[in-house]
Amino acid sequence: MAIKTYKNYIDGKWVVSSSGETFDNINPANKKEIIGRFQKSNADDLNKAVKSAVKAQEGWRNLPAPKRGEILFRVGELLTKYKESLAEDMTREMGKVLNETRGDVQEAIDLTYYTAGEGRRMLGETVPSELNNKFCMTVRMPVGVVAAITPWNFPIAIPSWKLIPALVCGNTVVFKPASDTPLSAYRFVKIFEEAGLPPGVLNFVTGSGSEVGEPLIEHHSIKLVSFTGSTDTGAQVAHKCAWNMKQYSLEMGGKNAIIVMDDADLDPAVEGVVWGAFGTTGQRCTACSRVIVHKKVIKKFISRLLKRTKTLRLGDGLKNTTDVGPLINEEQRQKVLGYCKVGVEEGAKLLLGGNIYNKGKCRSGFFFEPTLFAEVSPKMRIAQEEIFGPVLSILECKSLERAVEIVNDSRFGLSSAIYTRDVNRAFKAIEKLDTGITYINSSTIGAEVQLPFGGTKGTGNGHREAGTTALEIFTEWKSVFVDYSGGLQKAQIED
Ligand code: NAP
Repeated sequence: MAIKTYKNYIDGKWVVSSSGETFDNINPANKKEIIGRFQKSNADDLNKAVKSAVKAQEGWRNLPAPKRGEILFRVGELLTKYKESLAEDMTREMGKVLNETRGDVQEAIDLTYYTAGEGRRMLGETVPSELNNKFCMTVRMPVGVVAAITPWNFPIAIPSWKLIPALVCGNTVVFKPASDTPLSAYRFVKIFEEAGLPPGVLNFVTGSGSEVGEPLIEHHSIKLVSFTGSTDTGAQVAHKCAWNMKQYSLEMGGKNAIIVMDDADLDPAVEGVVWGAFGTTGQRCTACSRVIVHKKVIKKFISRLLKRTKTLRLGDGLKNTTDVGPLINEEQRQKVLGYCKVGVEEGAKLLLGGNIYNKGKCRSGFFFEPTLFAEVSPKMRIAQEEIFGPVLSILECKSLERAVEIVNDSRFGLSSAIYTRDVNRAFKAIEKLDTGITYINSSTIGAEVQLPFGGTKGTGNGHREAGTTALEIFTEWKSVFVDYSGGLQKAQIED
């Protein structure tokens, strides 16, 4: 079958890059399969995209917010209509199993319906004035032209967290997706076009972080950069934005942990840990990569965990017999392999896996064995650094206090969880765990769109996506004072 070439979307038209070049998008479960060719864009394309977003700004912000919301509701309907084929395309280019790619699309649907409703809410405040005949209120204003830069692990859900709130708030957008998953991003943009979004309001440019991402961030007309990706790239984004006096919101890495106390119900705890550690092949920002188990139950827990992990079936995510798909690319597989070697060198006990998986048809993809390390100590690199693969470190603790200390001994602060049947311990954990998200008797993954999403420390810069907190990112506050006294009233000045 001929390989399709996909274009950029600028000013409502599908156009090729001025570089005249493309890059290949390949299937990580079968590296011989080229899914499509995408534009290898450059600063010239980028400038055109920003210019188009600037041109469209005035018209879009002047469209009443409920009308903007109506267009976005149509986006929600179309996501629902195409859910199955979007999920299939996503599994082909990203590798995670179909049930999870369906979940990825569903998250975008949920986010879209929830956030499009802001078109009729977008609440401000009215507060009393210190003077008579004066009215005080706050209103939300769009920020301007927004750059949305996204990773490959949630190819539609994460873009939805940025595009939908940015647009409902009256901003226009230039969207640069991850180079490993441009097809899902392309299909998402096609949906906005079909939903009737006016030309220039959303622009889509594919290409690398250095050739498209960097000039995008530095462009003088970009007022806000909304970035999700690694902490290292996020730090570079922050430097550039700070230097250019731009706003930026960063969602970055994690080193998430589950605590299993001695009173926990061990079967659901094992299920939660397996889902957290090996779902999405460990490539979630909220993946569980550390489990901290109470000394009294650690033997029993490890034996059940080992047995359960051995049942996981690796393969192509399109097959319904597959539990764990491939890693995204060879570079990521080598990184995960490198960490397994580091774990062994550091003295952790390798219980399972630790190597590339090359059996049968998996030979053609980037597969890696689900890996368990026991006897891990909190300062080991495998307990500190984000691996982003199917590797779980098991640590031991003697008390809840110690378990919390271990969880918090991290440069990241995204998600944490505790399994316990003691309500006092559960609430203590909620209070003490230094993460943006905490689950009780559930895994580290499973966020819902109506709640804020994000983390502390190296995971973020104080913002939260989703929920109503997304509005804090994508709007500017304006304070308004209406004086209807007919004279000059002076605040804070005594006559
Ligand atoms: P990444 O390498 O940082 O890339 C993220 C995005 O930034 C991609 O679109 C990438 O483009 C672009 N980029 C790379 N270098 C850039 C630069 N110098 N300037 C501007 N843009 C640049 O991250 P990733 O490997 O795609 O994603 C995995 C990471 O994302 C993990 O650390 C994970 O924890 C994190 N993540 C966090 C959250 C959260 O909400 N906290 C959610 C999901 C993932 P190319 O693809 O072209 O390189």
